[in-house]
Amino acid sequence: MLEPALLPTPLVDCTDEAFARAGVELRLKRDDLLHPSVPGNKWRKLAPNLAVAVEHGHTRLLTFGGAYSTHLRAVAAAAGALGLESVGLVRGEELADRPRNWSLRAAEESGMRLEFLTRAAYREATGRAGDGDGAEVQRRWGPCLVLPEGGSNALAAVGAAAIPAELPDLDRRDVVCCPVGTGGTLAGIAAGLPPGARALGVAVLRGGEGYLEAEVARLHRAGFGREFANWRIDHGHHGGGYGKVPPELAAFAGEFERRHGIPVERRYVAKLLAALADLAGAGAFPRGTRLTAVVTGLPDPE
Ligand SMILES: *Cc1c(COP(=O)(O)O)cnc(C)c1O
Repeated sequence: MLEPALLPTPLVDCTDEAFARAGVELRLKRDDLLHPSVPGNKWRKLAPNLAVAVEHGHTRLLTFGGAYSTHLRAVAAAAGALGLESVGLVRGEELADRPRNWSLRAAEESGMRLEFLTRAAYREATGRAGDGDGAEVQRRWGPCLVLPEGGSNALAAVGAAAIPAELPDLDRRDVVCCPVGTGGTLAGIAAGLPPGARALGVAVLRGGEGYLEAEVARLHRAGFGREFANWRIDHGHHGGGYGKVPPELAAFAGEFERRHGIPVERRYVAKLLAALADLAGAGAFPRGTRLTAVVTGLPDPE
């Protein structure tokens, strides 16, 4: 088992003026404090997969990611902590001969073996590595537990369902909110809610309409054997696309950090918080709504 640093994670009130004016409460679920090298939703999603890996006698994990993938680093750190081998297939063969960036260096320092693929080979390998279908990858790379890009499979969604289980007394006024990259975290949160409460995901990438909803529904069927109707995804606050942080968003995040003394990760958490502030200001939530924003991760090291 990958020992958490802090579980359950703290729940803190964070209602500031902007939310109070709209009659809305804001709380933060500090999952960023869960584990120093496998933070937030990465720990939630990996924990049940790691348990299965160990139970099935796997000695190696294999996964996929881009040059700055938090998921890749998290898998490397988790495997290292559990004494498992890890292989990371990285998008971009041109990276092979360059000096490692901080993210890939961190993965290698945790013991991960990196293999650099062309974009076409990467697409093909990730496409074959969905739930329960890592056969092709295993033929090529040897026996291993294959985790999909971004780490969202059925077990990952089940792991994320523990987040709302740590929130006491959720009811009809509650909306539990998270950023959406692949949708695994949102799928778990929605599935773990009691009747009446709802989940809201904020897409951090552009053009995900339809695709992300289908992913969440697929994870619900795979992880929980049914679909849920208590969630939705906001597609209006991606800030221009994945990894893009426009100046207004950076200013918002800096201001939030100053006001609340909490580090705000920019690619996901800042977009979530800015979206909630914007939606609250626009009257999108009925007065009396209680928002719980899940702080899914930590800022990158400088
Ligand atoms: C990876 C990541 C996400 C994306 O979660 P999904 O389950 O893929 O939607 C959200 N927040 C942070 C901080 C992340 O690192």
